[in-house]
Amino acid sequence: MASDSDLSGARQGAQHSLAEQDALSQRQAGCSSDSLRATLAGIGQLKPRQARRMLEWLARHEPGASAPPPTSSPFTSDPVGTVESTGETTDDSSEESTANTEPAGPTSGEGGEILERRDITPELLVLKVARPEDFDYVAGQSVKVEFGGVRRTYSLVSAPHEPFLEFFIELVPGGRMSQQLSQVKEGDRLVLGKARGGLRFDERYPNHLMVATVTGINPFVSILRDYVHKGSQGHHFHVMHGASYQSEHGYREELAAMASAHPDLITYTATVSRPDEAANEGWTGQTGRVNTLVAEYLSSAGLTVDNTLVYACGHSGMIDAVTGEVEKSDFRLKTENYG
Ligand SMILES: Cc1cc2nc3c(=O)[nH]c(=O)nc-3n(C[C@H](O)[C@H](O)[C@H](O)COP(=O)(O)OP(=O)(O)OC[C@H]3O[C@@H](n4cnc5c(N)ncnc54)[C@H](O)[C@@H]3O)c2cc1C
Repeated sequence: MASDSDLSGARQGAQHSLAEQDALSQRQAGCSSDSLRATLAGIGQLKPRQARRMLEWLARHEPGASAPPPTSSPFTSDPVGTVESTGETTDDSSEESTANTEPAGPTSGEGGEILERRDITPELLVLKVARPEDFDYVAGQSVKVEFGGVRRTYSLVSAPHEPFLEFFIELVPGGRMSQQLSQVKEGDRLVLGKARGGLRFDERYPNHLMVATVTGINPFVSILRDYVHKGSQGHHFHVMHGASYQSEHGYREELAAMASAHPDLITYTATVSRPDEAANEGWTGQTGRVNTLVAEYLSSAGLTVDNTLVYACGHSGMIDAVTGEVEKSDFRLKTENYG
């Protein structure tokens, strides 16, 4: 039986989606930029689906409804909002409008329960989450997560052979999901969408240059865990991991250990951009923003356009800078922009 507040939330959600659809149509009509018009049209296509799902949910749950209630929330059965134009860049912007208006529901199948919370710093945490039985994914993919009525996309750190799902999350000041996740504790339950998009390993290239800032390392850890687990051979992964402070390099020990165990497969470089600050005392690794090291690395490691695929994942500033750098030489680049 749905609560009054769920029913009220669903009615408001449906009204909100329909009103937004109208507003988007008006904005589209008065728009002179082709690219903005196309973007608005793409977002507009999602709204009728969202409204319809709300209305269907209401039809099942309103007092006197005869249809049986669905087993999952209206959005988990068909996650919406991910724009995957090429599969190489993912944009979360369209999920904002309904994230707080759709009623929360149980994860489809078992799973979603938080098994472990580990705080790396006050702003960085690792969550290990029970994997739903029917949850399939490819290393490097991401998933929409709902908690406390907010929904955001997070990359999976775990690899498909692992029994749990793992996330490495940065809590950003004033962020809506960040506020929710700062409170999360073991035993709480996340609602998980399906795995989507992501930075997938492309075996056609012998060399893979993976550039990350902080949590942008996640898809690369997933890919490397998968590759090593399968006992694959024949590729080399050059992982460059940037952060302001040494405490922010989540998975540094794991990656350094993998590189040490498989020097033929993996080279790991970590860098801090604020080497003179007290928090970086004792740091003996590379210094400087990770994007400023890319050109020199490509050249010194002998990586060429023909034999190397470049990936960049994390903060938008780094991605823009790496894009500018590698585009000068026509390297193929896959990006995932966290914002
Ligand atoms: C494909 C994809 C995968 C992602 N994977 C991860 C992941 O594995 N781990 C992870 O921590 N995040 C990841 N993100 C980012 C995540 O989806 C959220 O955007 C992030 O958690 C902030 O959400 P929020 O609701 O707390 O902030 P919001 O309420 O959405 O934003 C609040 C403010 O914070 C700013 N902001 C948003 N993100 C950042 C940021 N990273 N750094 C600084 N300021 C920011 C916004 O511009 C805004 O001004 C991913 C995003 C995408 C698109």
